[in-house]
Amino acid sequence: MKAIFLDRDGVLVDNSEHYYIWKSDQLTLVDGAIENLKIISQKGFQLFIVSNQGGISRRLYSKDDILKLHFELIQTFKANKIEVAEIAFCPHHPEVEKCLCRKPDSLMLEKLIAKYRINREGSFLIGDSESDMDAAQKAGIQGIKIVPNQNMFPYISFLIQ
Ligand SMILES: [Mg+2]
Ligand SMILES: [Zn+2]
Repeated sequence: MKAIFLDRDGVLVDNSEHYYIWKSDQLTLVDGAIENLKIISQKGFQLFIVSNQGGISRRLYSKDDILKLHFELIQTFKANKIEVAEIAFCPHHPEVEKCLCRKPDSLMLEKLIAKYRINREGSFLIGDSESDMDAAQKAGIQGIKIVPNQNMFPYISFLIQ
């Protein structure tokens, strides 16, 4: 199956007000997020979110905070008939501990690709930073770089042409 991997902050969740997002009241979706995810899933892509959450390593918030927030995010999508298969996150921060999962590294993507038998060809990662693009390249999938916190429709409209 083909997949679209999405970065969370700046792509689906608006991070223009907060650098770290771990509480419900900080959760604002980027304009068009629901409609765009619908378009993507209707085109037969499995959906995944891959997010760096170095604030956990830095003890700014806990892994539980993130799991709760992600549950809420999944429920919001479900209520709109959008199935996100899994939200993967890297809890590490390079100032605290080194790892292989934090983007620009690709371990989060590699694990999902293996677990869900994703076909790299025809799969994409949509992100708003260079580290997202580097992770995509390392995983052998195409990266699509969007403008942070803006409706990504112009970048995915090719799917419905
Ligand atoms: Mg981002
Ligand atoms: Zn990590």
